[in-house]
Amino acid sequence: MSCHNIPVFLPHAGCPHRCLFCDQHSISGTVRTPSPEEVRAYLEECLAHYPHDPVQTEIAFFGGSFTCMDLDYQRALLDIGGELVSQYGLQGIRLSTRPDGISPEIIRHLLEYPVQAVELGAQSMNDEVLGKNRRGHTAADTVRAAGLIRQTGLELGLQMMVGLLGDTVDTVWETARALANLQPDTVRIYPMVILRDTPAFALWEKGKYPIFSLEEGIQLCAGLLAFFEGRQIRVIKLGLHASKEVEGQYAAGLYHPAFRELCESRLYRQGMFSQISRWEEKRGTVYVHPKGLSACIGQKRENIIWLHQKGVEVRVKPKETVSRGWLLLCPEGCEKEEQGIAVKVTGTAGV
Ligand code: SF4
Repeated sequence: MSCHNIPVFLPHAGCPHRCLFCDQHSISGTVRTPSPEEVRAYLEECLAHYPHDPVQTEIAFFGGSFTCMDLDYQRALLDIGGELVSQYGLQGIRLSTRPDGISPEIIRHLLEYPVQAVELGAQSMNDEVLGKNRRGHTAADTVRAAGLIRQTGLELGLQMMVGLLGDTVDTVWETARALANLQPDTVRIYPMVILRDTPAFALWEKGKYPIFSLEEGIQLCAGLLAFFEGRQIRVIKLGLHASKEVEGQYAAGLYHPAFRELCESRLYRQGMFSQISRWEEKRGTVYVHPKGLSACIGQKRENIIWLHQKGVEVRVKPKETVSRGWLLLCPEGCEKEEQGIAVKVTGTAGV
């Protein structure tokens, strides 16, 4: 079930050190860790004007390493969250933390509150890559922490990055496969963005941080999106949240305000090309649900232009009866829709 979050950002709170690439101040747009009183006031203000169904809403503590924070502060925030969850009938509390910030005692403590989802910043499942990026934990920590969370019945979320220092296409796929094997409920994929106020920026400036091009990143992340959703693992985030803070600190890397849409559009392109390029005439009409029309055509008609350059000609038309995330491909001269070929564009369930 899709769920809304009321995010509370706790930038770097609890983090034992700064990872190579991280600047939560820019990412969250929040400069300091709020006091419990400020958190309560903020949440009450949000809930007073809340537009979504509370039953499908979580309070989400993001931006730091929640379970590594001072225990009194954790308890104060969880007390406030718990009170508001019962007062407003919210779904529960979601929080993010580090894999080495999970133990049986910590899980027991979280279960005293209406915590329902824990997200682990796994980032990579390759120990060499983790070391280079100063993560301070190993892939084995992620496996162990995910197992502990799973045993309790809490929802498990895993976060991975694409383009960490030392990453190759192979290490990215190694990470994706290892994370899928842990059977998370959700995944977040963060393509690497080099932000100015980070050690990664200093390396990149000296030419010591090779990064994927945007084109490589889109191709790779489109594949990851299809991979996870093909295994019924929801990708609840793909790409860094677009904000003026991130844009102000951006130096290089895989940033685009509509990164996920570009990846979904790539999957539509692949779906069309994989079929139509094999037809004798290499031309036809593509029907798509109206909500997927722009992703299918691509920004500035880039999919149509790309297909044309490959000798494939398509007319794309909206059709309500085509399921979302599917294409109906009709060759030239095909008079009836039943003669069309239905193709699932994996990874576009929400388009
Ligand atoms: S990546 Fe996570 S653990 Fe590392 S500094 Fe950022 S918030 Fe803290």
